[in-house]
Amino acid sequence: MEIFNKKQDLKDCLSSLKAKEKSIGFVPTMGALHEGHLSLIKKAKQKNDIVVVSIFVNPTQFDNNEDLKKYPKTLKNDIKLLESASCDLLFSPSVEEIYEENISSENFDFDGLEHQMEGKFREGHFNGVGTVVKTLFEIIEPKRAYFGQKDFQQLQIIKKMVNKNRLPVKIKGCPIFREKDGLAMSSRNIRLTKEQRDLAPFIYETLKKVREKFGSENANIINEWVENQFKKQPLLDLEYFTIAEEKTLETIENRESKKKYRAFIAVYADKIRLIDNIRLKN
Ligand code: AMP
Repeated sequence: MEIFNKKQDLKDCLSSLKAKEKSIGFVPTMGALHEGHLSLIKKAKQKNDIVVVSIFVNPTQFDNNEDLKKYPKTLKNDIKLLESASCDLLFSPSVEEIYEENISSENFDFDGLEHQMEGKFREGHFNGVGTVVKTLFEIIEPKRAYFGQKDFQQLQIIKKMVNKNRLPVKIKGCPIFREKDGLAMSSRNIRLTKEQRDLAPFIYETLKKVREKFGSENANIINEWVENQFKKQPLLDLEYFTIAEEKTLETIENRESKKKYRAFIAVYADKIRLIDNIRLKN
């Protein structure tokens, strides 16, 4: 695997590969890699001649400085994992390399997707995500880019950005990869204490019960039920739970048979924020 820190070096390498008609698949990450990330790389390997992974902890998408500072950094181990996954190129730039002197975000209009869920609780988050992903797309110019449904709102927002700007890249959504006990894999999981880690599968267990209930119960009643479940778990603080339509991410009002719905959740274990979601059968 070749490792690049400078965008121009990566661009030069990619343009010689593109001249040989090699297709480029891209997996953007913030590092502290786990099997969830590797599942995206595996998907990318199946369809593309060359897979590029980026590791960049993007400062503009954090609204909380402590979360940014404590974001796990495990580059040596990440490189080992990427090599074992047969990743071809790693792009691991500094903040200056991406932002130069101006560490700020562009203002995007994602047709309202940015105001739902994460957008309500993480100010400026999606402007930061949009800015960095757009910049990385401009550098790499991939044919396909892979994003996890773990961050379903992010996936929809990236699709929106690509459609609105007619960017020449296909966005591929990949299923959520989970630990054996159901906890969605996340780089933040390694920050959990043993006690928090033991309790965390409760999040997915609750979502699975929501999926069962959605067959017969009204969304408001399910919301109340979820809130009550979390009141019984003092170590897990519910930030939000909502059942929303997949396309608009708007909270359900009346269920319509042709629409697709998902339940979304964000929970704090002390200062560690965990998110998850599940597809519901209509
Ligand atoms: P991150 O490093 O957390 O920014 O994640 C990089 C990419 O990996 C994003 O597209 C995430 O949605 C995806 N991802 C993270 N965790 C998982 C998971 N457990 N399953 C599938 N994809 C994931």
